Amino acid sequence: MIKNVSVIGAGTMGNGIAHVFAQHHFNVTLIDISAEQLQKALNTISKNLDRQIAKELINEEQKTVILQHIQTRTDIKDGVATARLVVEAATENEAIKLQLFKLADEAAPPDCILASNTSSISITKIASVTQRPQQVIGMHFMNPVPIMKLVEVINGYATSNFVTGTIVELSKQLGKTPALANDYPGFVANRILMPMINEAIYTLHEGVADVAAIDTIMKLGMAHPMGPLQLADFIGLDVCLSILQVLYNGFGNSKYAPCPLLVNMVAAQKLGVKTEEGFYTYLPGSKDLVVSDKFRK
Ligand code: NAD
Repeated sequence: MIKNVSVIGAGTMGNGIAHVFAQHHFNVTLIDISAEQLQKALNTISKNLDRQIAKELINEEQKTVILQHIQTRTDIKDGVATARLVVEAATENEAIKLQLFKLADEAAPPDCILASNTSSISITKIASVTQRPQQVIGMHFMNPVPIMKLVEVINGYATSNFVTGTIVELSKQLGKTPALANDYPGFVANRILMPMINEAIYTLHEGVADVAAIDTIMKLGMAHPMGPLQLADFIGLDVCLSILQVLYNGFGNSKYAPCPLLVNMVAAQKLGVKTEEGFYTYLPGSKDLVVSDKFRK
């Protein structure tokens, strides 16, 4: 039975994944190269647990227990030493993920499953740097992890049926709904979502409409909970760009070419919510959605 789970990467997704596993009584080790990022993640988890308390979903005592289930590490080998499952949620960059899986494979117990939360990078390629490709799988949570129900489960070329079954069951145990996909660029979720976000950015870039109009049209017209530009800010524009590059390179099809405006915004480090500015500005403590000065006439 899986009890010890190590989560690599304590950014937007890693803190949510750690939160959900800890809330379901797993022992979580959260690992990041940055000690500052680990502290930030613990603060975010604490704040999100407070929200659950305000909604009367949990009480103060449960919050304390959940936080006690999470320990942090900056050394990956130490952090995965007793894990039965590793969920990697580090930066969406192939070289980083290959290096992390090599290290995790060397240090984790032989029966440990190595999962990646990657949005688009090949699970088969990631598995190829390990000695246990049959135990490597995609476990793609959605943002924000404590709220979103879906886990896209991605089978690599060598993933065993046993491992797929274990991750499907585990996802259900976390209160999520798993859906299976095979290992092709972007899998299902991002192969469909990212071209829409990219097209929204082209629509802005070409002056068809402004930020507010594009998001209002898609939000109200298509009954989406948020418009594509706000969603891009929320995901992180660097993450969106990385996924589009994987789609573009993987399929060799120009329809996935990232919009030059997206490329520029990432180069300017306007990455959305995480840098407090993207298509909108996100002032600390403010809930108002304010279009960034750059996109106001
Ligand atoms: P992020 O930039 O918020 O966080 C990445 C974290 O990884 C950072 O804290 C960074 O310090 C850490 N990191 C980088 N290199 C590391 C290393 N060598 N060892 C340990 N930690 C390292 O990114 P994110 O948005 O949380 O995305 C993480 C993964 O989840 C990516 O693969 C992304 O595609 C995927 N994902 C993201 C979203 C989203 O909405 N942001 C949704 C689903 C999946």
